[in-house]
Amino acid sequence: MSYPRIEVDLNKIKHNTEILSALCDKNNIDAIGVTKVFCAYPPIAQAMVKGGVKMLADSRIENLEKIKDISIPKLLLRLPMISQANKVVELADISLNSELETIQALSKEAIKVGKNHKIILMVDLGDLREGIFREEDIYSNVESILKLSRIKLVGLGTNLTCYGGVIPRKENLNKLLDLKKKIEEKFDIQLDIISGGNSSSIYLLENGEMPQGINQLRLGESIVLGRETAFGEKIKDTYEDAFKLIVEIVEIKDKPSIPIGEIGMDAFGNKPTFEDKGIRKRAICAVGRQDIDTDNVIPDDDKISILGASSDHFILDITDCDNEYKVGDKVYFNLSYGGILSTMTSEYVNKVCK
Ligand SMILES: *Cc1c(COP(=O)(O)O)cnc(C)c1O
Repeated sequence: MSYPRIEVDLNKIKHNTEILSALCDKNNIDAIGVTKVFCAYPPIAQAMVKGGVKMLADSRIENLEKIKDISIPKLLLRLPMISQANKVVELADISLNSELETIQALSKEAIKVGKNHKIILMVDLGDLREGIFREEDIYSNVESILKLSRIKLVGLGTNLTCYGGVIPRKENLNKLLDLKKKIEEKFDIQLDIISGGNSSSIYLLENGEMPQGINQLRLGESIVLGRETAFGEKIKDTYEDAFKLIVEIVEIKDKPSIPIGEIGMDAFGNKPTFEDKGIRKRAICAVGRQDIDTDNVIPDDDKISILGASSDHFILDITDCDNEYKVGDKVYFNLSYGGILSTMTSEYVNKVCK
């Protein structure tokens, strides 16, 4: 077995998905499984499907390609690149959009291959990442979209708590529902999907505060880490350790805690500082910042403290550990969202499902 490796407990992913799907169902909301944090690794995506998500979503077309054989509708989360319009029509049933030029390009490709493509128009409610900001622009865009062949406008969406950290509230989500009503009346159409955000909207379900009419949520972190992202609270009855990083120790030695010699810069151009704790037992592990940053890991053994890392090494202080570590032993870590993202992306980390 090769290390470093990330072990994924598919039953925990399935369980978390079931809990969140049930919570969404109770509120007449479709839970969409977001796969980008694990690069749409197919067995994990499958576990989300078994857990009850109604659709899979990813920000990257390359990831949608990996799960194209899973028969469930696919949503592209990141605004499409015009240069990838043909791939978007081929691999996504629905895409989130905010630029008319792009939607026109999608229409052209959809006509070419004789396939319909669905659009959710993104509205910026103040978080200032993607979405149309001015109300007049929304209407003029809708008017133009309705004239395009092979494009079906199926709903409105918004994304919050990503760039600006704006928290979803009744007030801002009601604005989205208000816009839906106005568009439906103005253009005599029906918008079936109102996509009310990501894992930061979960707390509204838990508190019973979700406005009636929001009928879709796109969920990544809440499924993989059992955590809502408006306040960072754990979600009841979910696992937060479905992903584990396991690394191997390649050196253990007693050394001083302050380097010997004049201090210049470390491997990443920073000038390091040190606290003198005398001689300490240090372990070097074969994983590094090329795979993951130290602030994205939490050692299972809480007596371990992390001293630092370079591209290919983690340096741990194991002086206070009850466990007698030896060279060749393995160290286990829990991961943050950023930690799952970077280790799943690293080609040097072995991925194992159990
Ligand atoms: C990443 C992403 C999500 C999922 O966010 P989580 O916080 O992981 O639930 C939802 N919508 C869009 C547009 C995204 O880019």
